[in-house]
Amino acid sequence: MRRIFFISFVAVSLFVSGCSRQADTNSVQEIAKPEPKQVTQTQTEKSPSGILEHGSRTAKVVALTFDADMTPKMKNDLKTGVVKSWYEKGVIDILEKNKVPATLFLTGMWAELYPDVTKELGANPLFEIGNHSYDHGGFHMPCYGLGEVKNKKDEIDITQRILEDLIGYAPKYFRFPGGCGAPDDVALVSQLGLQVVGWDDISGDAYIRDSAEPIITQTIKNAQNGSIIVFHMHGGRTAPQTVHALQAIIDGLRKKGFSFVKVSEL
Ligand SMILES: [Zn+2]
Repeated sequence: MRRIFFISFVAVSLFVSGCSRQADTNSVQEIAKPEPKQVTQTQTEKSPSGILEHGSRTAKVVALTFDADMTPKMKNDLKTGVVKSWYEKGVIDILEKNKVPATLFLTGMWAELYPDVTKELGANPLFEIGNHSYDHGGFHMPCYGLGEVKNKKDEIDITQRILEDLIGYAPKYFRFPGGCGAPDDVALVSQLGLQVVGWDDISGDAYIRDSAEPIITQTIKNAQNGSIIVFHMHGGRTAPQTVHALQAIIDGLRKKGFSFVKVSEL
């Protein structure tokens, strides 16, 4: 497994460095790149590490998931007007228009900046809300240039409180920023009563920024029964193509016979 991880890491590193660094040199501080080990998937529903990476392989369903990242730098860019918004409403509009359910992993800081949106999303039966840490730091370093989390338990607890206050329920699911979590971290999340959710289909929307086409192609190609597909819903310069790729992905997956469920329904 470690060898597979390493080989995948090298392959993904080459790919990432080849296509995204020049597109946005700030991005490495802001957003995690896909977790390389997810490229080569185990066939179990929960990996030996306790991470839920996909559901049953027998039902022709997939779960779309969308992360809303927010780092201190992203917040600062918003406050200073460098960035107009870290909420890509178009993504949510497409999901609603197509009646496609989704699981949304929100950082606590994002929810604080968009409390009304968070309330609306939490009240919408099409969606369920998960915890994506408070300010998107790495739990297990190195993590694609993300800053290191200082107090792991607080990152989870504080975000649970922020989200529960806004949406009226405590999220059941947690996703590590960048997918960077060691077994101890998975155990901590579990002790706090949450299930760690990963993915087995990387849309690539956080590092393919020039064109929607490769996101569409690889997401549809890699989808299997029970797949958890990872996207981002904060848009901006770090995930600019999600909104342009999503409709074609929904159409393409439906054409292949898939229907959509939330993670809790996998
Ligand atoms: Zn993230």
